[in-house]
Amino acid sequence: MSVSVRVRSRVPMRLYSTHNPQLQVSFKEAVLNSLPPDGGLYMPRFLPSLPATAWRGRGIPQIAEEICIRLFADEIPADIITQIVYSAFDFDAPIHLLDDKTAILELFHGPTLAFKDFGARFMARIMSYFNQGEYQPLHILVATSGDTGGAVAAGFFDVPGIEVTILYPSSKVSALQEKQLTTLGKNIHALEVQGTFDDCQRLVKQAFLDKEINRKLRLSSANSISIARLIPQSFYYFHAYNLLAPDREIPLVFVVPSGNFGNLTGGILAARMGLPVHRFIAATNANDIVPAYLEGGEYLPRPSEQTISNAMDVGNPSNFARMLDLYQGNWEAMRTDISGYAFGDRETRSAMREVYENYRYVMDPHTAVGYLALQAYRREYAPMHGVVLATAHPAKFLDVVEPITGKIEIPLKLAERADLPKHARLMPNDFEAFKTYLLS
Ligand SMILES: *Cc1c(COP(=O)(O)O)cnc(C)c1O
Repeated sequence: MSVSVRVRSRVPMRLYSTHNPQLQVSFKEAVLNSLPPDGGLYMPRFLPSLPATAWRGRGIPQIAEEICIRLFADEIPADIITQIVYSAFDFDAPIHLLDDKTAILELFHGPTLAFKDFGARFMARIMSYFNQGEYQPLHILVATSGDTGGAVAAGFFDVPGIEVTILYPSSKVSALQEKQLTTLGKNIHALEVQGTFDDCQRLVKQAFLDKEINRKLRLSSANSISIARLIPQSFYYFHAYNLLAPDREIPLVFVVPSGNFGNLTGGILAARMGLPVHRFIAATNANDIVPAYLEGGEYLPRPSEQTISNAMDVGNPSNFARMLDLYQGNWEAMRTDISGYAFGDRETRSAMREVYENYRYVMDPHTAVGYLALQAYRREYAPMHGVVLATAHPAKFLDVVEPITGKIEIPLKLAERADLPKHARLMPNDFEAFKTYLLS
């Protein structure tokens, strides 16, 4: 650690609300409260400028350490930061080269085989640190339609001082997803709600508003727009650059399969901290709200459409507010850095087939949308070096993938969960029953 880092670290980290720059809080407050009371999102007041020596030749935990020390050292001691990043990012993010200009950054080697492990594991450790010394456990409530619950459950598993209750809609998540939610045990409690995802979300919201529950329990949320889930999504962009251009600068295009745009916003943060990025590409399925904005300058949210890349089925992307904030609402400026492309399910399936036939590489449907966007960008501009962020392992989407590629291998991490007994409490779709359960 250099001397300049220590000096810099005395500047306290403050976060403001995108709705009101005057409203400023500490990192601890931002993490434990998740959202500002004014309905905005927290953003860091300052981003450090990383010299090349701080990230060149380094792996994800080391890059994370450099960034976190510059951001948080006034609130978290450096040795704790080191412990947190090395235990959170103890899995690899390799590059798979399809050809000499097309790289797939595999972000799915964490415990739940989706890139959300980066955010969830980091957030869990940060929350646990800030929660230390509290007499009462912190009780996290999450409603899930599938993927997020799994990453949050695994991220908080066995974290001291934290209890997690996951509400999921009965028979509306896939069999393997359900096993990811219900086989951990210890501090992870699964409630199988006899209702829809919206019912689960309503029960959680009601619990946050209930005076008696809040008097007796310390509740918190593992919301996907928590700043502690966003910041770690900037680290692997530096890592990808190191892998592809270890000893020179090359203009790189990063392609990000997007839903709520947290992953892409993490990339913009990396660029603001000094990573050379030629351009970002926002790749979406039929839910093309952001590509349409980049094209025409109008932001028109609408109800989401269901697709085969369902983790990107978002009709009003929550992090768009952060993107606007980073560009101070300037459409032209945003368009200079970010291009957008959208694709339907038919094109997505044929991209999966094409890549499998040409390269014997199996992409999940979300990654395939990214691959298509890179091709489209190259047709429109130039045959740039591109990195497609692979957001999930194909085995998480067997019903879409296997009809195209035939049987694929299921990673042990996922397969071994299939045989474990499910532990979930069946819960009627009724707030009083949920409340009785929480208070018992
Ligand atoms: C959550 C998710 C996405 C979308 O990421 P955002 O940060 O919400 O844009 C894409 N692919 C997969 C597999 C996901 O789970």
